[in-house]
Formats: sequence, C-alpha cells, structure tokens
Amino acid sequence: MQFNDVNFDTYFKNYPNAEGYFGKYGGSYIPPELQKAMNEITEAYFTICKSSKFVSELRRIRKEFQGRPTPVSYLERLSSSLGNVQLYVKREDLNHTGAHKLNHCMGEALLAKYMGKKKVIAETGAGQHGVALATAAAYFGLECDVYMGAVDIKKQAPNVARMKILGANVIEVTDGLATLKEAVDAAFMAYCKEYKDCIYCIGSVVGPHPFPMMVRDFQSVVGIEAREQFLEMTGELPDAVVACVGGGSNAMGLFSGFLNDPVDIYGVEPLGRGKALGDHAASLTYGTEGVMHGFNSIMLKDEKGEPAPVYSVASGLDYPSSGPEHAFLRDLGRVKYDVVDDNETIDAFYTLSRLEGIIPAIESSHAVAYAMKLAKKMEKGSILINLSGRGDKDMDYVIEKFGIRE
Ligand SMILES: *Cc1c(COP(=O)(O)O)cnc(C)c1O
Repeated sequence: MQFNDVNFDTYFKNYPNAEGYFGKYGGSYIPPELQKAMNEITEAYFTICKSSKFVSELRRIRKEFQGRPTPVSYLERLSSSLGNVQLYVKREDLNHTGAHKLNHCMGEALLAKYMGKKKVIAETGAGQHGVALATAAAYFGLECDVYMGAVDIKKQAPNVARMKILGANVIEVTDGLATLKEAVDAAFMAYCKEYKDCIYCIGSVVGPHPFPMMVRDFQSVVGIEAREQFLEMTGELPDAVVACVGGGSNAMGLFSGFLNDPVDIYGVEPLGRGKALGDHAASLTYGTEGVMHGFNSIMLKDEKGEPAPVYSVASGLDYPSSGPEHAFLRDLGRVKYDVVDDNETIDAFYTLSRLEGIIPAIESSHAVAYAMKLAKKMEKGSILINLSGRGDKDMDYVIEKFGIRE
C-alpha cells in the first residue's frame, strides 16, 4: 500500500533508516560515550534478531512463560449497547504480569543475555516497567537495577514490593522533585559508568536509536497475532484499530500489523483535565518538534523549551513526548491521533467492567472510551481495540477518587 511517498509493502525495511530516523524524527542525541554503547546494542540486535536460535527461543518463551498468544475477545454486550458496530479487544491484560510491557522486556533481557551482559538497568515512574523488567531479569538470571524517585516509591508501594520480591534492586532517587525525570537522569548516569556489563532497557518506543525500532519489533507480536486472529474469527480485517499512546509501545505493536492494510488507525492520547498546558499529556495533538531523552519527536514544552509538566489520570500515559515513529505516522496521515479526557476514560473503565466482565487498566480505558465514541459515529463495521493491560493496579485509586458507580 502506498501512502503519500511511503510504500508500506517495504516499510519495515526502510523505517527507521540506518541512523534511526523515521523521516525527520528519531535519531540519537546522546553523549559520545553512550553512543558507543548504543552502537554495540544496535549491532548485536541486527545480528541476533536474524538468528534462528534467538527467534525460536523468544517464540518458545512467549508461549510457555508469557502465555501467548493472548486471545481476541468479541465485546457482544458493549457492541449492541452502542449500535451496529462490532467491537473486539486484543487481550494484553492476559499477558503474564497483566500488560503488554513484558513483550519488550523479555526481548530486551534475552538480548542482554545473548550479549553476555550480567545486568539490566532502567528507571520507572509508576513501577509498571520496573515490574516487567524485574520479571524478565528473574527469568533470565540477570541482575536488575531499577531507579525510582523517592516520591514514586512512597506512592507505588505494591509495585516496589513486587520488584523486591522478584529480586530487583530498587534504587531511591532523591534529587529535585524525586519523580520520573530525576529517575531517568540517575539511571542514565549509572548506565554511563556500567555499560560494559549491562544494558539499559527502555520502557517504550522512545529514547535514542535503536530503542524505538527494537521495542516496536518486540511489540509487533501483538499486531501479528491480532490480525491473524481477527481474520480467523470474522473472515475480514477490522475497519479500524485503536490503541492508547503514552510513549507508544502498545500502539506501535498493534499498528505495525495493520499499516499495510486498508484499515483506519487511531492513536488515543490523554486529554486529562483539559487543553491547558499542564492539564494533559497529549503530546502529538498539542506538541511541537523537539529533542528530549536522546531523540527528536513531537513534545510538550514549557516557555523555556524544556519538557513541560504533564498530567494524566493514567500514570502510564503521563509522558511529555511520544515515540518518533508516531510523530512520523502522524505527519504522513497514516495514523490519526485524537484525545479523550479523564471523565470519558473513567466512564469506559466502568462500562467495560460492567458489560463485559473485564476490568481494564486506566491507560487502556482511554482506547476503549475512544472506540465507544467512534462506534457511535460509524454506522457499521468493526473496531479492534488494544487492551494494553488489566485494571487491578487501578482499582483502589478509581474507587477513592471517583467512587463506585451505581
Ligand atoms: C505503560 C502502559 C501504557 C503506556 O505505554 P505505551 O508505551 O504507550 O504503550 C499503556 N497501557 C498500560 C497497561 C501500561 O502499563
């Protein structure tokens, strides 16, 4: 399929290019010392991902440990409550640890193992990425250092406990505001010192090359499975696919399966409390081009041009930028990006729970909320939603902040 001047038949061969660019987005903006480490990872990835041993080992792990393939479920009661459009969900909530993040963490940790590294390093905000990485590290017998702000450590006690039970070192960061940004800085600094023995494992399709490409490739299992399953269930492709976008990894995973198909693709960003800067985290909708965390993309900036403070009811979507490939697909017009706010999201959280017996993560509830609106607009057809994770982690928060719905 041709879209403007991009040919999607050969898309994955050409994007990103050798320097890690998707059009003008992506690349690698980091100190020379770290660039050496990135080059080593890139080289190892290109060699290893073509080896049948690596591919078949990852396939076996996905089946025997992660519980893949995750199913696609038809949402019969939700669909009929909305009209004539048929809604389906790809069940990443049923992936081991309850979300899609393990898909790339297992890939990254297996790569670390093949490269002879002893340790994986990462930062975490709400703790979801830390838990997935700690799980992968335990599975492969790797050490795991997770940098986390002191404020987040207090807020996210269950995830801190999970990481510790899994054997990870949770390293408290007390600089500045002691949240995610400081944790990223501390993890990067540690990595600069230790890169010979470890690899840095990024939690989404962000960061310097090769991470946006590598994380996309590891997540593409979601789209490949979903496409096959949907065809088998219905005999057709969906008319639209929908996923929430924080950094953008679950979305790229699903979208990559449908880029070359006549399927409308929607990425959903968090509008939070509203359009004012600081009240949302809808970077692709309201942001501008800029460099942060080692890559060029679309981001939300303050008056000084620094990454702006952002807000979302979903801690996993609370990031002032998105992966470079999303910025590229947005400019190209291949993927449409739109927003839903906190209220629509919480409404979808309860609706899916009550009508289908599935409690979604608040992140995933953004995609469900958008699909519900889209279904009302479309007169017929089908929508496939990526249910990126389960909502157990969010239940206490939703009840405390929004109460139990009647
Ligand atoms: C982390 C997370 C997200 C957001 O990350 P992406 O990289 O945008 O996918 C979405 N859903 C869940 C359940 C998460 O844990």
